[in-house]
Amino acid sequence: FDPKYIRNFSIVAHIDHGKSTLADQLLLQSGAITQREFREQLLDDMDLERERGITIKARAVAINYTLDGQVYELNLIDTPGHVDFHYEVSRSLAACEGAILLVDSTQGVQAQTVANAYLAIGNDLAIVPVLNKIDMQASRPEEIKEEIMTTLGIDPSEVLAVSAKSGLGVPDLFRAIIERVPPPAGDPDKPLRAMIFDSKFDDYQGVVVYVRVVDGTLKVGQKIRLMAGGTDFEVVSLGRFRPREVACDELGVGQVGYVSANIKKLSDVRIGDTITQVPGGATEALEGYEEPVQVVFCGLFPASHNQFDDLRTALQKLALNDSSFTFEPETSDALGFGFRCGFLGMLHMEIIQQRLERESNLMLVQTAPNVTYEILNRKGEILHISNPTRIPDPGDIEEFREPIAKVNFILPTENIGAIMQLCEDRRGTYIKTEYLSTTRAILTYQLPLAEMIYDLYDKLKSATRGYGTMDYELQGFRADDLCRLDILVAGQKVDALSIVVHRDHADRRGRKLVKKLKGEIDRHQFEVPIQAAIGSRVIARETIQALRKNVTAKCYGGDVSRKRKLLEKQKEGKKRMKQVGNVEISQEAFLSVLDDS
Ligand code: GDP
Ligand code: MG
Repeated sequence: FDPKYIRNFSIVAHIDHGKSTLADQLLLQSGAITQREFREQLLDDMDLERERGITIKARAVAINYTLDGQVYELNLIDTPGHVDFHYEVSRSLAACEGAILLVDSTQGVQAQTVANAYLAIGNDLAIVPVLNKIDMQASRPEEIKEEIMTTLGIDPSEVLAVSAKSGLGVPDLFRAIIERVPPPAGDPDKPLRAMIFDSKFDDYQGVVVYVRVVDGTLKVGQKIRLMAGGTDFEVVSLGRFRPREVACDELGVGQVGYVSANIKKLSDVRIGDTITQVPGGATEALEGYEEPVQVVFCGLFPASHNQFDDLRTALQKLALNDSSFTFEPETSDALGFGFRCGFLGMLHMEIIQQRLERESNLMLVQTAPNVTYEILNRKGEILHISNPTRIPDPGDIEEFREPIAKVNFILPTENIGAIMQLCEDRRGTYIKTEYLSTTRAILTYQLPLAEMIYDLYDKLKSATRGYGTMDYELQGFRADDLCRLDILVAGQKVDALSIVVHRDHADRRGRKLVKKLKGEIDRHQFEVPIQAAIGSRVIARETIQALRKNVTAKCYGGDVSRKRKLLEKQKEGKKRMKQVGNVEISQEAFLSVLDDS
């Protein structure tokens, strides 16, 4: 296929602005799927994606479209919109020459609209700006074009308008893609170079990698080399997603597809690596991806001790499908053997945990999430620590530094005050306010990452009745008066419950924590003291009274359903119990240390 007639593009947008719906519509109007095969958000085929109605993994689909008698091959890469999945977006963009920047014409420019647009511009992509949902009553196309102009400097006359739902305006969009997105620029006569942008594990085929061919041709039966590790394989099968997998004999310049080559070892494949041919291979690999930065860490432990190996296998498999999280073995006095894992954000963490449990049938206990801290110790060494239990004792710390982020909120002007208060309460530093229009503004703050990862997003949503959005960018570390707060249960330090807090908030957090834990830990046959301490100084204490002989005493007089509920609740809790000394602590108790509300 002549690369002249190939277009590779992705769709970027803020969450819910209609990317997946537009992808459906492009498939439908190009004839890649029939009305009968059609189902909504067709590309979101992962169970979790369908349940939550969001896209987690990027997808690549090859479709054919005929314009003015010429057949074009369009490779469309659908991307997730949530801030946590930026990394997926940036990888997709590296495989494209263009991006459709989709903006919901009832909502306007949002935080991820701006962030994703800059990502696309940074990758030198041709931008095709498109307003969506113009079928809706609340659509305000002219106003939103102005916003696009103000935030991104895009001329309103370049902006298309569609309804991804009804298909209105989509033929014009096809034309704009073909006219404005440049064809791939690779050289078919050069040695093969193909970029691995994704991979998955298949029980029969082993590792299947998703590639975009940059130079040369990839053929069935060909000997290939993965350049980073220098390992060789033979191509068993090749194909493209249309949207189902359809096998083919070769992939040429600019084409996107999958490669199966009997790759059995998960560790052989690296996302961002280059595939070349053997012999006569390329000497220079393609520029890889920027390594993703994990910002949230937590411990994941199997609920039962004998599942450690299963957890390791599950993590390895998942890492192949999502290379943006990290894991390394960790031992906890309280929780035994498990892994310390790093994620791109809270949603990412939640999703990885759920995928692990579902895809590998594991039951996990998760510790409170935290960020990475930078510590300058008394010996003048700088330590990077993402596990609170490793933080040195107060006397050994010269300077305790935490990650700082620049946060952009896009919100209705009437909510500026509320969000400023929210940021001030979280040790924020005001930077500026810019007006998008008379009713909407961009508010910029500097905030400690630790103060925003947990619930800032939810708080923003409720304060702005859903209209506010945010995006952030890390800016390095800053010293502050921080300390490690430990929790002792029955006199024993529970390593998995240690957290880092600002000293001004330590007393309040400590008191709240022990109170909360008191409510979460069941009564035992003996008295259980719960203490919060900084170093050796106890700052708060609560005591769980010993259980009275009659276990169901508290149910007497209550109705039957209440009693049953209680028993069920106990059973549920049992599933995720951990033994600390001779005290049992539930998963909920571990998570309760998070909640600062
Ligand atoms: P994504 O998060 O960007 O992938 O957004 P989705 O494609 O999942 O769409 C979010 C919601 O907007 C869904 O409920 C869609 O049905 C709806 N939607 C998308 N495009 C349109 C449109 O053009 N018109 C209307 N009325 N609704 C749309
Ligand atoms: Mg989607």
